[in-house]
Amino acid sequence: MPEERFCRRCGRRIEWRRKWAADWDRIAYCSEKCRRRKIGARDREIERALVSRALRAAAGATFCPSEVARAVGGEDWRAWMESVREAARRLVAKGELEVLQRGAVVDASTARGPIRLRRVNAPVPPSR
Ligand SMILES: [Zn+2]
Repeated sequence: MPEERFCRRCGRRIEWRRKWAADWDRIAYCSEKCRRRKIGARDREIERALVSRALRAAAGATFCPSEVARAVGGEDWRAWMESVREAARRLVAKGELEVLQRGAVVDASTARGPIRLRRVNAPVPPSR
């Protein structure tokens, strides 16, 4: 099996295609659309905001990506949600965050609908 690759823009897993066999190691984007939308300073800012929000969360606690969209986009936060979800998937691909739905970790590449985020390897509080 070829090594898994994740889109540099949207963070989704890139499906292997036979026509890419020869240069799989150089495939960086899942689509032409993603290839045209380069990562900018704002995207990096969103990534940093996600990481710092994740680090502030209590051990094992999740948070909603809209919190970060509000922090970055203010009144316009809804317009930033897709960028925040993309940044979250990029961080999932790097092993820094995980995506949850109904309390369970899900595949960030295919998750639809509302998600919550959590730092990977967040220490779990002891149960009593
Ligand atoms: Zn993509």
